[in-house]
Amino acid sequence: MVKIIVVTGGVMSGLGKGIATASIGRILQSKGYTVSAIKIDPYLNQDAGTMNPIEHGEVFVLDDGGEVDMDFGHYSRFLNIDLTNEHNITTGKIYKRVMEKERRGDYLGQTVQVIPHVTNEVKLWIKELAKKDGVDILIVEVGGTTGDIENLPFLEAIRQMKAEEPGNVLFVHLTLVPALTVVGEQKTKPTQHSVKMLREVGIDPDIIIGRSEEALSQSTKKKISLFCNVKEESVISSPDCETIYEVPLVFEKEKLSETILRRFRLTAKDTDLKNWKKLVNRIKESSDKPTVRIAITGKYTRLHDAYVSVLESLKHAGAHYNIFIEPVWIETDEFEKDASRLKKLEDIDGIVVPGGFGSRGTEGKILAIKYARENKIPFLGLCYGMQLATIEYARNVCGLENANSTEIDKDTPHPVIDILPEQKEIDSMGGTMRLGAYQTKLGKNTKARDVYTKELISERHRHRYEVNPAYIQKLEEKGLSFSGRHPERDLMEIIELEEHPYFLASQFHPEFKSSLERPAPLFLGLINAAQERRRAG
Ligand code: GLN
Repeated sequence: MVKIIVVTGGVMSGLGKGIATASIGRILQSKGYTVSAIKIDPYLNQDAGTMNPIEHGEVFVLDDGGEVDMDFGHYSRFLNIDLTNEHNITTGKIYKRVMEKERRGDYLGQTVQVIPHVTNEVKLWIKELAKKDGVDILIVEVGGTTGDIENLPFLEAIRQMKAEEPGNVLFVHLTLVPALTVVGEQKTKPTQHSVKMLREVGIDPDIIIGRSEEALSQSTKKKISLFCNVKEESVISSPDCETIYEVPLVFEKEKLSETILRRFRLTAKDTDLKNWKKLVNRIKESSDKPTVRIAITGKYTRLHDAYVSVLESLKHAGAHYNIFIEPVWIETDEFEKDASRLKKLEDIDGIVVPGGFGSRGTEGKILAIKYARENKIPFLGLCYGMQLATIEYARNVCGLENANSTEIDKDTPHPVIDILPEQKEIDSMGGTMRLGAYQTKLGKNTKARDVYTKELISERHRHRYEVNPAYIQKLEEKGLSFSGRHPERDLMEIIELEEHPYFLASQFHPEFKSSLERPAPLFLGLINAAQERRRAG
């Protein structure tokens, strides 16, 4: 029987529930157990695909084309597991199923209600998925905060699950333990209130994780234990860390996996976080390791969460080479206003132009790409970054004046980036986006092949536009190499320049498959080139 850990959050959002969930998974993996994760998002959207990254952070993409909450990024970066669209349960998806059943007459004349019909659907979804995954332990993260109206049906479903199988379900509650700065005293009242609210819906937490600036003092733990009716050993201290990857190590020090396994009557099979520990030390800044400065350009740079996978991929590659990565955020609008500001890039060791939509800031990005190309600064373009690099090359090297993407300029004389007629046919998701995993074949004697060290790769996509096949020959003649292509179709996946230390861009998003223990090859290539540039001074 699968064991289920349910993670809820209290007091306020933004405490790092996704990271806590991923970290719990990681320490259980290190004890020899297989884990999977489900995220419940109590909103009415079917999925995160239509949601604004400024408000919600990045939309994470899965192999099956699922567009999901950014917490899936944490799961994948910590756990090295590939999840599916089904692992993201939303209110929208649950209600859709219930309504379909109602229309089909499955409820045989009953009044369809939140309890039991919606709650039954939630339970069924979780149980079926647990069976399909076939793992030892399933972790279910409930989005939102206790007290929200939206997550009540989910909490009720989960309460029932525990009532049905008390030994197989465990509740972990993550709360905030603030400290009064003047006296530094840790306050447990918000935690007490949050737990009280959980109790009102029939849930007694088994384990409480207290997020705080400093580690929880023994007396704080005692207090939480007493007032919230959990054992003292089940109060886990989770202070601020230098890097999120340290959280599993903090949990391990607090003996969290021992406590969980004991509750489930399981024993540790083995334990090995040695390699993880080594990588965590490598991520941290220190005086005895080199630093490289990587510029990340984009229009959502005010909200770093919109680029979390890109940032994390850079860190993974940095850990691999034992280099500290200093990200430098650049709003490209400023280059459009004043091109002399490009000088800012002089002291940069590498430039990433990530994905994006719409026209704002694109001319500035094109200027930054031109600067990287001409000044031989290592460059990695991701999706839109690849399309803009192609436009830059078409304009400035091939002499195709006003070349553009039809996304930006419908009337461009040279639509080097365009929507392909067959796109609708290729797309399996019903929309017009190319979503999810596609294969790419890498050309011989290319940098792309060097960094991937194999011929056939699979990476994730999320875009509507493509390199226009009508321009491929012209671009190639002038030296732009299409080193990665779809194995059968005329879809360009990677561009690169031979006469440049590292100028690579991909139509796919390699950042969605990078993890601490398995960094993405294209990022490794960038960081390697960046460190060489730094060394050369
Ligand atoms: N806007 C571009 C497209 O739709 C690129 C999308 C992206 O960067 N994810 O093709």
